[in-house]
Amino acid sequence: MSINIAIDGPAGAGKSTIAKRVAEKLSFIYVDTGAMYRAMALYMLRGRVDIKDEAAVTDMCSNVHVGITYEDGEQRVLLNEEDVSGLIRSEEVGNAASAVAVYSAVRAKLLELQQSLARTHNVVMDGRDIGSAVLPGAQVKIYLTASVHTRAERRYKELVKKGESPDIQVIEQDIIDRDYQDMHRKISPLCQAEDAVLIDSSRLSIDGVVDRILNIYKERCC
Ligand code: C5P
Repeated sequence: MSINIAIDGPAGAGKSTIAKRVAEKLSFIYVDTGAMYRAMALYMLRGRVDIKDEAAVTDMCSNVHVGITYEDGEQRVLLNEEDVSGLIRSEEVGNAASAVAVYSAVRAKLLELQQSLARTHNVVMDGRDIGSAVLPGAQVKIYLTASVHTRAERRYKELVKKGESPDIQVIEQDIIDRDYQDMHRKISPLCQAEDAVLIDSSRLSIDGVVDRILNIYKERCC
């Protein structure tokens, strides 16, 4: 049986950095499910679909195939066989991902892919509903969070590093809006699974969080 580690939490809590490191340490594959929602969103944006129109988005779902592959241990996201990993990282695509993630047709499509990866591989999977809906039987479940201010600051620094000149207040508001949308949707909202361990990363280093997760894994699985 494969071993599954689920890491959920709001945008900017550091899930992907931490999940990637945990996966590396354990030689598991890292599955970034947010990237799958982003690829779906990119497809809708390119097709100029009104993402507020559920029927139109649902219609488009029948022609789209999202897949993932690994290159030098890095996850690449494929949208109808095209590698879109570099194109899905913008705020525009992130916000559109959150908008299309409310629809059952979009979620059902990606759920199948996520569950089949976890059945056939040892995975560290991060997202919003992994512990609560995608992998309810995961051996380790973590709910990773941090204050809105800490998350906005981290995002701000990332964008500055990329040469952009962002407004921290806009970033903070974006985070608040995205959290609200993800926590209040009808299907698989972002929430802490009952049996998930809560970790607040506001005052912890990346290594500190990684060590805590590895210790929980050792206690439960070794
Ligand atoms: O984590 P990331 O910012 O890449 O996710 C983009 C959006 O995809 C999230 O805001 C959320 O709405 C959606 N998502 C989701 N379920 C997941 C992963 C992401 O609904 N498991």
